Amino acid sequence: MQEVDFLVVGCGPAGGTAAREAARAGVETLVLERDPVIGAKRVCAAGLRPGFCEDFDLPRSIVHCDPPTISVRGLSGRRYDFATVGNAHTTTREELDGTIASLARNEGARIETQMLFRNYVADGERTIVEYADLRSGERHKVRARSVLLAQGSSARFAPKTPLEYDAWSAGLITCYQYRVYLERPAIDETYRILEMHYYLTESGRNVIAWMFPKRDHLSIGLGIQGKYSGKDLRAELDAFLPTVQERLFPGIGYTVREEGNLLYGGAPRPRISHGNVMVAGTAAGLVDATTGEGIHEAAFSGRLAAQTVADARRGRTTAPAQSYEKALKDVFYGRLRHRHKLMTFLERKPVRFDVLFDHIARTPRFATMLQRDRNDFSLGEWMYLYAQAALFSIRAIRA
Ligand SMILES: Cc1cc2nc3c(=O)[nH]c(=O)nc-3n(C[C@H](O)[C@H](O)[C@H](O)COP(=O)(O)OP(=O)(O)OC[C@H]3O[C@@H](n4cnc5c(N)ncnc54)[C@H](O)[C@@H]3O)c2cc1C
Repeated sequence: MQEVDFLVVGCGPAGGTAAREAARAGVETLVLERDPVIGAKRVCAAGLRPGFCEDFDLPRSIVHCDPPTISVRGLSGRRYDFATVGNAHTTTREELDGTIASLARNEGARIETQMLFRNYVADGERTIVEYADLRSGERHKVRARSVLLAQGSSARFAPKTPLEYDAWSAGLITCYQYRVYLERPAIDETYRILEMHYYLTESGRNVIAWMFPKRDHLSIGLGIQGKYSGKDLRAELDAFLPTVQERLFPGIGYTVREEGNLLYGGAPRPRISHGNVMVAGTAAGLVDATTGEGIHEAAFSGRLAAQTVADARRGRTTAPAQSYEKALKDVFYGRLRHRHKLMTFLERKPVRFDVLFDHIARTPRFATMLQRDRNDFSLGEWMYLYAQAALFSIRAIRA
């Protein structure tokens, strides 16, 4: 059986960042990735929060556009524009995940593609991971000191095991996206905004739709909670498309590449470590349910996992998985739980989306604070935040 220090499953932003930073710290690292080409199959709008490339030491060459504005619309259709704190970025997952993986390899991580993780079992102080080589069909085992599971929204854990989360399936959102390749550029404004639309289908289901600009195409897509067939999603997207097209690229010819995928929009997994095993990124449920943003959370959780594994090798912690869970719960985990509660509250009566946008538009300080990725607020800021949340709740309940 192979032996490795740190085994990572999945080479998205969580697994790739963990591998890169652990290998840089001198930890022997192996990544098992199911896909043949890293990032090529990831369906994503690939919007990155301001400062992402600097925070994760990634080249600016992966950035397509730097939109300074997020434009949102609720049920009323009224448009609200919010300035981002610093410019947001857009990219593609081929470039993002592929670049992180190649930087991880440069640091010495071994990344094996077409390897499908099957399960893990504890083996004393180690963990044995079983996986299948998709090229040969052979099954293999590897014994690792620490394991990071970062398989994204397709992560499943066996029933009645500690990492299982009953509410996981209910949090899944079915998504459909068009990559729209235009014959000539859209109007200039298109490349300066990230658009989000919150509305209802004819049958009363909540929809989040978006338009994110890229260098050579526009990502236009939508997500609906629960299972939805590809045919029905495509019909919804075709109904949404003209609302963007008529404003941003009227009369311009285009071709479309269609993509579908699952997004997780529930609450974070209650437990994200067990024995020597840690869970990161979307597999841990680390997604902002109000926007679908999860790349930053994925990369950050990968970084924390790498740090705790490196600390363990230096004798600074004896239980890295538990240190990881604690460190993660000290940062944005609480915010993501609140965002999920907020989204549930809004979706129960979707007219509340407009109330929220209106409230944020009237209170720029509140808008700025909501964009902070950590809850490191002063006492005064907490009081301000709670006061604004209370005012919004009163207005929303009355709506
Ligand atoms: C339509 C859509 C739009 C989105 N838009 C945005 C956005 O604009 N901005 C944003 O921040 N977030 C966005 N997200 C969310 C974002 O995609 C995720 O939060 C992010 O990809 C999570 O990264 P991850 O590394 O945890 O998982 P993933 O990126 O899903 O990576 C998981 C990796 O694990 C591999 N894998 C899965 N199962 C196995 C297995 N059994 N064995 C081996 N490998 C396996 C996969 O092939 C994949 O490479 C969007 C999601 C969707 C679906």
